[in-house]
Amino acid sequence: MQSWILDESPGNYRFGEIDIPDPAAGGVRVRVVASALNHMDLWVTRGLPKPPVPHVPGADGAGVIESIGEGVTSVAVGDEVVLNPAISCRRCPTCLSGESPLCRSFGILGEHRWGTHSEFVLVPAENVLPKPAELGWAEAAAYPLCHLTAWRMLRRARLVAGESMLVVGVGGGVSSAGLALGLAMGAQVFVTSRDASKRQRALDLGAAGAFDSGEEFPIKSDVVFENVGAATWDRSLRALAPGGRLVTCGGTAGSKVEISLPRLFFKQHEIIGSTMGSYAEFDAVSKVVGSGGAAVAVDEVIDGLEGFPRALERLEAGQQLGKLVLMH
Ligand SMILES: [Zn+2]
Repeated sequence: MQSWILDESPGNYRFGEIDIPDPAAGGVRVRVVASALNHMDLWVTRGLPKPPVPHVPGADGAGVIESIGEGVTSVAVGDEVVLNPAISCRRCPTCLSGESPLCRSFGILGEHRWGTHSEFVLVPAENVLPKPAELGWAEAAAYPLCHLTAWRMLRRARLVAGESMLVVGVGGGVSSAGLALGLAMGAQVFVTSRDASKRQRALDLGAAGAFDSGEEFPIKSDVVFENVGAATWDRSLRALAPGGRLVTCGGTAGSKVEISLPRLFFKQHEIIGSTMGSYAEFDAVSKVVGSGGAAVAVDEVIDGLEGFPRALERLEAGQQLGKLVLMH
């Protein structure tokens, strides 16, 4: 199959041919119709983490079932599907209790296993869902990782209708999904960005207010939705109302932060970590997105798998507002 291939990490991608096996028992092979970029596509080239090589990147995708392994009855050849990028063993007590992101063998498509920037991809049959009929291929490829991550973050932060939420650094995939899902849940959502055009776009999408990420946030909110890290951390904590919850899934602008303990306990704040999501959470967020309940922001659809390097450059420059999608 034709794929983007990483021969060493740190290293650079090359476009070439690589053999892909038949699906194992319980697995399926999907012909990828569209794949979307994530920052992980950059991190694996820097050894963060180091995938087994040769490696094929790409966490997000949608396509058509091309072949099924022994014992697979949930899908058939020709079915149009979206891929759940969060893969766990599905058998241990943690998985069976519904908390698969805490499974010891939890992994992400395109991180420790071959991904979607390729003609074909192999996944367990449990990791495909029917493509929502209302979504085009680009949206279907664009939502899985970011909307799944944002959905679990909002669940773990216990956001409910009527509460206020601040999305720090709107523009990236997860924070755009946080805005859309927060609005879908009936929260009053505020955003921050350094970029005036991104602030305006968030207001157009329904945000109640938009602030400059470089200045003090003039708000006290019930939930703060973070993945910026050190660059905004202190202001994000100060933007919490008494009893507020800060939920974070990353630190794209610095991973070491400080916490003032008196402020934490006097204000009874909570700081919550979250990553990816469970099978049940993927089902749930797919229903919300598939029914049009939460917008999927697609910045650009690029024609052909060969457009990957240009898309990576745009991702690295942080110019995009939403997802970059390759139409294979
Ligand atoms: Zn497990």
